[in-house]
Amino acid sequence: MNEAIQTTTGEATPEELGRTLVHEHVLVGYPGWQLDAKAPAFRREEAMARALDQMQELKDLGLGTFVDPCPMDLGRDVEFLAELSQKSGMRIVCTTGAYFEAEGNTFTFRQLPVEEITEIYVKEIEEGVGETGIKAGAVKIATGSRVVSDYERKLVTAGARAARETGVPVISHTQDASCGHDQIDIVTGEGLSPDRLLVGHSDGTEDHWYQRALAERGAYVGFDRFGISLFQPDEVRIRNVLKLAGAGHLERILLSHDSIMCWLGRPLPFANSFEELLAALPKWRSTFIFEEVVPKLLEGGLSQADIDTILVDNPRRLFAAGLAKRD
Ligand SMILES: [Zn+2]
Repeated sequence: MNEAIQTTTGEATPEELGRTLVHEHVLVGYPGWQLDAKAPAFRREEAMARALDQMQELKDLGLGTFVDPCPMDLGRDVEFLAELSQKSGMRIVCTTGAYFEAEGNTFTFRQLPVEEITEIYVKEIEEGVGETGIKAGAVKIATGSRVVSDYERKLVTAGARAARETGVPVISHTQDASCGHDQIDIVTGEGLSPDRLLVGHSDGTEDHWYQRALAERGAYVGFDRFGISLFQPDEVRIRNVLKLAGAGHLERILLSHDSIMCWLGRPLPFANSFEELLAALPKWRSTFIFEEVVPKLLEGGLSQADIDTILVDNPRRLFAAGLAKRD
């Protein structure tokens, strides 16, 4: 059982996390992106330089920790993250776990039983990813739209078991803001307390009552796609954050952008190139919350202490909840 949080460059205490973005990405590529000979080539040096620039901006805004819950099958590159962390001085947390059935790379995990997938996740948390020694600090789980498939149920179960065994939190992907309750059911059914789970992308709906019900059950509610106006206007996200806080659930709110610094291949089916997609989503950058969302939350009635609860205390409690107590 972990006594500390695993980052890509070593251990951290919950108090060290500071201001935290719980769901951002450095590199993302859909399974099979290497097959697309029409896509621009991945240039590691350029990607590193671009990521370093963006990490510096985030450091200037006071960010202490950057959580990159890239699933294993979406181009996860933990050595890239560790190098970026060393060069930038930004604390970066990576995850174990795989994406949802329709968009993941599913053959191997469809063959393996839940026990073996659990062992694989635990291995990545306790010993490291591959031979790198770089340890995952959280489990990523994912479900598709409206229905949890057998494959997804198996992987969510494995993720919950691995989290229970190691003490790390569970960070989820939901599709179309659906199946959040199924995720809570499966995770708590495996003996995890709901405050070990962040139900991600819960801002993909206007429905305050969906978000509120997740919070009432004790899970963290991810308003973690700020800037992606393609899925939901940011005004709706802001309004619903304020509503949820007003309903007494400030301590269940987590904010992030699901931003991506460098895309591997093309961001199909949304755009033909990453530049094209970024041009269509000008607010979709990892600094948007600090620059434009926090001022609007303050105008909407939250205090600076409330903002600190959301950006500092809530991530700290999510990551601390399962840790074994030190003597
Ligand atoms: Zn994501």
